Amino acid sequence: MKMENAAEEKIDIRSMTLDELTDFSVNTLGWQKYRAGQLYRWMHVRLAGSFDEMTELSKSMRAQLAQTCRLVSHKMVRRYVSKIDGTAKYLFGLDDGNVIESVLMRYRYGLSVCISSQVGCRMGCRFCASTIGGLVRNLTASEMLDEIYQIQKDVGQRVSNVVVMGTGEPFDNFDNVIRMIRILSGPDGLNISQRSITVSTCGIVPGIRDFADLGLQVTLAISLHASNDADRQRLMPVARRYSLTELLDACHYYQEKTGKRLSFEYSLVSGANDSEASARELAGLLKGFDCHVNLIPVNPVEETGMRQPQAQTVSRFKSVLEKNGINVTIRREMGRDISAACGQLRKKYMSSQLSVGED
Ligand code: SAH
Repeated sequence: MKMENAAEEKIDIRSMTLDELTDFSVNTLGWQKYRAGQLYRWMHVRLAGSFDEMTELSKSMRAQLAQTCRLVSHKMVRRYVSKIDGTAKYLFGLDDGNVIESVLMRYRYGLSVCISSQVGCRMGCRFCASTIGGLVRNLTASEMLDEIYQIQKDVGQRVSNVVVMGTGEPFDNFDNVIRMIRILSGPDGLNISQRSITVSTCGIVPGIRDFADLGLQVTLAISLHASNDADRQRLMPVARRYSLTELLDACHYYQEKTGKRLSFEYSLVSGANDSEASARELAGLLKGFDCHVNLIPVNPVEETGMRQPQAQTVSRFKSVLEKNGINVTIRREMGRDISAACGQLRKKYMSSQLSVGED
């Protein structure tokens, strides 16, 4: 118990920006300024898993760090690799015993990592497995970064894209997500271009507006999933807080501020939002908006009872949008053989308490 308290009080040094770290190194640790740059590089470029690895720093400096700070570094609990397309799902163990999942996808243009932003989620979307147990806690910036760092180290290849589309609602953990993006895209870290980062939100309107005001060049994806308020409210409790009109206003605001094209995610659920009338209504809603619609046949999750539409229903939905001049694709399913729909892996693991290993 005493140990745990001590760990909690230690400073989460991997969540600091370079400016903060410089201030801390000089004023608290009493180091020369250039040491902060070395330490930062060890954490965010060389992706060290412990202070001991940081051989540029003297033994006494490393001891000083270990005494006052903790270096967040996940345990890889399990890894599933698809034999079809190399997609890999990772389960990472956090210091407090929680488990999160991240996914690596291999595209022609490079490696893309999908990260979780929270342990669990409190948004309650009816089709989603991540929200079934509710929210446990927010992830720190370092915990989100280490999802990417661990995977880059594991595959020994540069990660080029990051999507914040795993478990959790990023705008319910706004400050930590922004901090993570700044560190990830900064020139002194992995330097992943903001244009190669996508944040997906269920539609928290004030979050979208605050995000727009930051003027980042990050792609915003909106989980729309319905063409009117009534349907949306049946699928997503957040729709009771913000109407589609308010949501789309905020999207226009994001576009004005950043000049970026938005993405809309639309999970097709049989009988709930997949009719031709819904497609026409959606086309009307998005008319003239510079955007891209991603259609995702819903991943069936045992507890939700939601079913995928027939293939022809999906293609009919798509063609209605196309006829109305809307950019639309059907999301390609990756890693089918290892697939446990969004958030299911963690849930399965938590209930079965599998041992460390690999499938
Ligand atoms: N909370 C954020 C990001 C996490 S979910 C958001 O809502 O956008 C990432 C995407 O997967 C969202 O569009 C979400 O609605 C969708 N999703 C969740 N469960 C799904 C399922 N079972 N089938 C298809 N899409 C799902």
